[in-house]
Amino acid sequence: AREQALKEAKADAKTADGKRIQVFANIGSLGDIDLALKNHAEGVGLFRTEFLYLENDHWPTEQEQADAYAKALKAFQGRPVVIRTLDIGGDKELPYAELPKEDNPFLGHRAIRFCLANPDLFKTQLRALLRASVHGNLWIMFPMIENFTEIRQAKQLLEKCKTELQKEGTPFAEEIPVGMMVEIPAAAITADLLAQEVDFMSIGTNDLTQYTLAADRGNELVADLYDAAHPAVLRLIKMTCDAAEKAGILAGMCGELAGDPAMTKALIGLGLHELSMSAGTIPEVKQNVRQVDSQKAKSLANELLGKSDGEEVRKVIQQRG
Ligand code: PEP
Ligand code: MG
Repeated sequence: AREQALKEAKADAKTADGKRIQVFANIGSLGDIDLALKNHAEGVGLFRTEFLYLENDHWPTEQEQADAYAKALKAFQGRPVVIRTLDIGGDKELPYAELPKEDNPFLGHRAIRFCLANPDLFKTQLRALLRASVHGNLWIMFPMIENFTEIRQAKQLLEKCKTELQKEGTPFAEEIPVGMMVEIPAAAITADLLAQEVDFMSIGTNDLTQYTLAADRGNELVADLYDAAHPAVLRLIKMTCDAAEKAGILAGMCGELAGDPAMTKALIGLGLHELSMSAGTIPEVKQNVRQVDSQKAKSLANELLGKSDGEEVRKVIQQRG
């Protein structure tokens, strides 16, 4: 069955009634690219850039970063590659950064918050991304967006970098979509407003789940509470997809839930157009997409929103498939 799935994975994924669902790979290092290509990822929905910072004993230079981004963009030959800017802090520490200790690092100075507070470091990454953009189809994504101002400031810095490069005569792609992760409940709840500022949204269920359910994603003591299929999380996913559709932008998902084959139908029913996951599950998820009737998926999703917890949700999915 696995071989069959791999064979069929080559073609792009469409539901039984012809709706196109993009099945993308998550990439955590350049080493992940090969498997993503082998499993026929249609693009990269989340390129986590942290490895560049974690593997080094110094802040990676503009050149080091540009080379790494160019490699990924070239490998995917014109297919979309969503590169996420640095998501440091939280559980990811940098020895050379000398960040102050925080009592609640997951609620603290991480990701876009850290980057906006350190514009020089942030600009190095943005300049590297722009320089690499001539090598493929680059999309830039900002993590942990909680409000309007953060996106505006990040976009302003990006514009500043473009102006600098232009003055230096360094080329970059003209059309680079700019998007945000929806992984803080506030962002999902105000997705209609935030959608005005971005070209795409991608839901990060790993963080969205921990913040919605107040259950640390890495704490085994609360692992039974931490379930991305909880109706509260599903409702936030629905709100985000509805807002994106209304604004005419794409809504995708790059959290672990996207790669859960049991959830494919429900996720399509909630309104997602793109699912990004570890490369290993791409063939199976593509097969599942092809089984889906999008009207039936919608009615399944609506039913799930009325369940009391994740366990109930999963029971219904098992019964109704
Ligand atoms: C997420 O939070 O769902 C996500 C994809 O980002 P990360 O797992 O890197 O925090
Ligand atoms: Mg996250």
